[in-house]
Amino acid sequence: MTLKFKKRIALYNTLAVAYTTALVFFVISFVVYNTAYSHLDANILVEKNEMISNLFWLKDSIIINKMPEWNEAEHSQVEVNPTFLQIKNMQGDIIFRSDNLPSNQKLEDAINGEIYYNSELNHKRIRLGQFPIKNENDKTIGQLTIAVSRQESYTVLYNLIWVLLISFPVMLLVQYFSSSLAASRAIRPVNQLISLASKIDHSNIESRLELPARRDELYELTQTINDLLARIEKSIAQQKQFVSDASHEIRTPLSAIRGTLEVLVRRKRDPEAYEEKISGVIELVDRLDALLEQLLHLARVDSGTTVTRKEHVKLLPVVSAIRQNWEAMAEKRNISILCHLPADAAVKCDKFFFELMLDNLVSNAIKYGKINGHVVLNWNENTRTLSVEDDGIGIPENDIQHIFNRFFRVDESRSSIVKGSGLGLSIVQKLAELQHIHLQVTSRKGDGSTFSLEFPQV
Ligand code: ADP
Repeated sequence: MTLKFKKRIALYNTLAVAYTTALVFFVISFVVYNTAYSHLDANILVEKNEMISNLFWLKDSIIINKMPEWNEAEHSQVEVNPTFLQIKNMQGDIIFRSDNLPSNQKLEDAINGEIYYNSELNHKRIRLGQFPIKNENDKTIGQLTIAVSRQESYTVLYNLIWVLLISFPVMLLVQYFSSSLAASRAIRPVNQLISLASKIDHSNIESRLELPARRDELYELTQTINDLLARIEKSIAQQKQFVSDASHEIRTPLSAIRGTLEVLVRRKRDPEAYEEKISGVIELVDRLDALLEQLLHLARVDSGTTVTRKEHVKLLPVVSAIRQNWEAMAEKRNISILCHLPADAAVKCDKFFFELMLDNLVSNAIKYGKINGHVVLNWNENTRTLSVEDDGIGIPENDIQHIFNRFFRVDESRSSIVKGSGLGLSIVQKLAELQHIHLQVTSRKGDGSTFSLEFPQV
């Protein structure tokens, strides 16, 4: 069973009050008990001192001389604050008992040698004190037992405990309902917030909740929800933009293919013309294929389900394979690819994703590199950084911050004959993030660019 929030608050509140009150009640009972009984014990002690000072003995025998105060009402009557006295000799015989102590009754002895203890006399509760009677040689010659009624103290304590026991659940019940009432009043604005927030969906995602007048937790909650809405709105806008960019990127080669094919079917041509047009279509299909592959990579990384493995990857074989892939294109532009890597250089990462990242960086370096220029791959063992450097067109300072955005292409690249989708670097960045590889770029327009991958220290 799940309790509603306000009921939970009320319950926790009541439990806290229950613990505190139980403790307070316990302390009150303890203090009252001790006060009442220490008062009785003090009375017994006064009585004992009076008795002992009026006792006489001869060697080991106690001499009982009836003293006038023994006739006082408290010693002779049972009704008014009675004080019972009893003296035993060492043989255990009762040699004196006060008049109010019936002849068939005797005061009970302490069981565990305590001085003060509780007992009953004639079904009435009494408090007793038991003291040894000693002669001048400090030899015990008898035993004095004094009892006073504890009926009054008992009744006070009994009533007190009953009042506490009855008031405890009543008080908790009242506490629970008043807490529940207070909690429901306190969370009323939260409920209002819930009802307002639940009305927001994708059709009115731009709406925001009204901030409360007071700058309290509720204000912060409303602001947090508004911030969240702003982030969702931004991400929806980005997604819409992505879909529109992606469809644009797909539609462009598709309409080019369609246009070429329409031109081809319009009239008969010689085989060379067909060959030329069809090669153009094949190139466009390849572009579409590459674009779809990049979109798929991005979708997989975005889904958050990408699992990266940590493998021991030797750099030289990977770099050599990628160099071979791009050798033909580099030759076309007369770019030399130089690799400065020790044979044993290795990193820990996902090999497949690493190849994908490096492939993108090397292809960009060649695409945007200088004709007759160089692309240099360098490994720095100290910083564990692999850099891909070119001496090509470089990136304008203002564009560097955007090159990792999806579909972003520097204007120059966009208008150039260099083919691209503007997705490669965003894939590289995502994969670097996933593997905790630090991706950095330094570039100057006209001077070239360096992209570096700093691997975590092993
Ligand atoms: P593209 O498919 O356009 O190459 P990328 O995401 O790989 O997409 O790169 C985004 C843009 O960044 C490119 O269009 C280009 O303008 C710029 N860029 C990337 N690498 C380089 C580089 N080595 N030199 C100059 N500009 C680059």
